[in-house]
Amino acid sequence: MTHTPIAIIGAGVAGLAAARELSDTDYIIFEKSRGPGGRLASKRLNDLRADIGAQFFTVRDPRFEETIALAMDAGAVQPWAPRMGTFQQSRAVASPDTQRRYVGTPYMNALGRFLAQSVEIQTEKRIAVVNKDGDRFILTTTAGDRYTADQVLITTPVDQMSDLLVDFDIDEITQKFTMAPTWTTVVSASEPLVTDDGGMIDACFGGDHPAFDFISVEHSKSGRNSDLLVIHSTSDWTTTYLETDPKWVAQEMSALLNDTFNIQSNPVVSHRWRYARPTDPRLTAQKGIYQIDSGLWIAGDYLAGGRVEGAFLAGIEAAQRLQRV
Ligand SMILES: Cc1cc2nc3c(=O)[nH]c(=O)nc-3n(C[C@H](O)[C@H](O)[C@H](O)COP(=O)(O)OP(=O)(O)OC[C@H]3O[C@@H](n4cnc5c(N)ncnc54)[C@H](O)[C@@H]3O)c2cc1C
Repeated sequence: MTHTPIAIIGAGVAGLAAARELSDTDYIIFEKSRGPGGRLASKRLNDLRADIGAQFFTVRDPRFEETIALAMDAGAVQPWAPRMGTFQQSRAVASPDTQRRYVGTPYMNALGRFLAQSVEIQTEKRIAVVNKDGDRFILTTTAGDRYTADQVLITTPVDQMSDLLVDFDIDEITQKFTMAPTWTTVVSASEPLVTDDGGMIDACFGGDHPAFDFISVEHSKSGRNSDLLVIHSTSDWTTTYLETDPKWVAQEMSALLNDTFNIQSNPVVSHRWRYARPTDPRLTAQKGIYQIDSGLWIAGDYLAGGRVEGAFLAGIEAAQRLQRV
């Protein structure tokens, strides 16, 4: 059995931020997917790609600002200044603001790849369960491989975390923190999005719309050169159609966009995020981390406001706790 001082589960923003704080002999980071980034995801669509997870991120804390400045120098991040809209009584209206927003370039997963540059990741290794044996933890992958660790940091979404920790008392945390789903639909459209008050927009918050949570025009972001739009559905709409055929969802969302903006879009694909965002992002744990057991920590956006920046800061805080032992 391979032993590691610290096992990190998940190479999303939180896991990567934690690993970057540690010496590479101190940890192994396990990731079930083929690459890093988690919900900072983009999907290949023939010869194009589209962001299907987070559409942008904001930067407020100096620790995140410093890292994002490095990512910008490396060409992995650019500012994004969309002409914003929102929905009022289900009608699109202009909603200009001065918020500074950033995107990964050429796609959102570029930030994940940037954060992963100095981090060695064991990809396509899904941890099935974490058990405790005396002072040590035993991690078993779905392929049956076993690892031992002195400490463990879990950065998966909370619902996926509960599957791993059947041996531990996690009721309090799983009852308090829950995740809501999102259907994300990519459509193609050559016409612009124009609001009811006549302004052209690049992105639109859902406001009070029952189905749209966020819409963005890919080519308004640096490095994208396609006619693709990404639509996140509200969690209520998604919950209603959670088990519906993705093709139907894509057609429905495209038709709704056409009716709303009087354009002719075509459905491309719909992706279901079962665990997209925290149900209540106002609920947080101190510093975005929580200790389940001696040496066993959890960290992630769902404990820290549901955003990329929160996930990053939670990862850093977790690494500091792990280093203290
Ligand atoms: C549809 C959508 C829209 C969003 N919009 C925005 C936005 O506009 N702005 C913003 O700031 N944020 C947004 N977010 C949230 C943002 O994406 C997250 O806050 C952030 O990416 C979370 O990072 P994380 O590291 O906490 O979790 P994740 O990114 O989920 O990382 C967890 C990692 O763990 C891996 N994993 C899971 N289970 C296992 C296992 N058993 N073994 C090994 N690995 C495992 C996963 O593959 C994943 O890579 C959005 C998210 C979604 C889904």
